[in-house]
Amino acid sequence: MTGPTTGPLVEAVEASAYTVPTDGPEADGTLAWDSTTIVLARVRAGGGTGLGWTYGPAACASVIGDRLAPVVRGRAALDIPAAWQAMVRAVRNDGRQGVAGYALSAVDVALWDLKARLLDLPLHRLIGAAREEVPVYGSGGFTTYDDRALTRQLTHWTQERRISRVKIKIGESWGANPGRDLERMRLARQVVGEGVELFVDVNGGYTVKQAVRVMGEAAGLDVRWLEEPVSSDDLDGLREVRAVVSPEVTAGEYGGDLTYFRRMCQAGAVDCLQADVSRCGGISEWLRVAAVAASYGLQLSGHCAPHLHAHAAAAVPNLRHLEWFHDHARIETMFFDGVLDPDDGLLRLRPDAPGHGLSLRGADAEPYRVG
Ligand SMILES: [Mg+2]
Repeated sequence: MTGPTTGPLVEAVEASAYTVPTDGPEADGTLAWDSTTIVLARVRAGGGTGLGWTYGPAACASVIGDRLAPVVRGRAALDIPAAWQAMVRAVRNDGRQGVAGYALSAVDVALWDLKARLLDLPLHRLIGAAREEVPVYGSGGFTTYDDRALTRQLTHWTQERRISRVKIKIGESWGANPGRDLERMRLARQVVGEGVELFVDVNGGYTVKQAVRVMGEAAGLDVRWLEEPVSSDDLDGLREVRAVVSPEVTAGEYGGDLTYFRRMCQAGAVDCLQADVSRCGGISEWLRVAAVAASYGLQLSGHCAPHLHAHAAAAVPNLRHLEWFHDHARIETMFFDGVLDPDDGLLRLRPDAPGHGLSLRGADAEPYRVG
């Protein structure tokens, strides 16, 4: 399988899971939660360690230990495509989409981080950079927030951080409260003023006609981005909404393999494609998703987990931006040294830190460990 000329071999693949309570009740249009689980993957070779992670059930850690570690151990650490393909084959019967794909994504990122560290390069240098700074938008605006909490968060992003794009959740209770959705959009526009792009995410909570109606009533608010107005499984529905509303229609966060994204683009369902490194198959697949989007003349936006995306995003010519998601930015700041700063709406990648530049603060993470 490998020989002495292939460089260091992977000696260990380890996983651990942590559940972190949110800093308040959170909900979007179609789900409510009070904690977030992060699953870490660590890969060791040649005296170096690579760190990856995903946001998914703690079961991802079992998949890494039981299914992925046995096929990655002993492989050449620098040959990520071979390890990636072995992982995809190993989870065939477990479902590439979902938990197994999330676990695979975490290991893939750990392999990229390891390779960059072994070569003593920042990860975006290893991949090859298209830019040194990555644009982000502030994201949160949960439907559980009262007016004061929403105002505080929007003010933090736009005034303290000087981020000029923000996204709030609407579609409350599966679209049962469009009146409050409109009130919250009006409040958001009032708080951020005219110079800031306002995005909304319905998380699939509306019907086609309802999405068109609500956006019609919001016409004066200059909403620029309408995410998942209907279920992202309903490609016809997304296309129908897209044909008649002013904001760009976007989706893709649940995509688990390349075919998913090709179908979404082919259907004319989105104005900007979204994909999530922690779900779609890691940095390896996310870079290919960017190529699929480019072939349809579309840009790509990274979904959540900002530090997981930053270096890959720097390498993608057709990048739109990344999501500075409140939950994940908070956990990544709690757990890792070396986190980036979103001031002025830009993540500036460090030129001197090998890999993705992050290291786990084990003692700070340990109290949250669940597996
Ligand atoms: Mg979303």
